[in-house]
Amino acid sequence: MADKKQKRDNKNYDGDYNPKYRKQRKKVCVLCSDKNFVLDYKNPEQLRKFVNDKGKILPRRTTGACAKHQRDITTAIKRARHIAVLPYTTKD
Ligand SMILES: [Zn+2]
Repeated sequence: MADKKQKRDNKNYDGDYNPKYRKQRKKVCVLCSDKNFVLDYKNPEQLRKFVNDKGKILPRRTTGACAKHQRDITTAIKRARHIAVLPYTTKD
């Protein structure tokens, strides 16, 4: 028990023993990091990065976007779909 606690408190211990908690690079929100990045629902090339090949909106864990910007992305994609700039879905 005491041994476990010590492992957790040791800052040099990198937790390599469990593959579930492998060192992962923290994804940073593309919209927060790039000030010049303006999300535009009329720009399908830009929005393509936030949907998968089926046209589904990618989750935050994949895009790395923050909550605020993920909401903006979602709105932009939905607008783009409505004006037929992006597909709702693709065939097969
Ligand atoms: Zn953000």
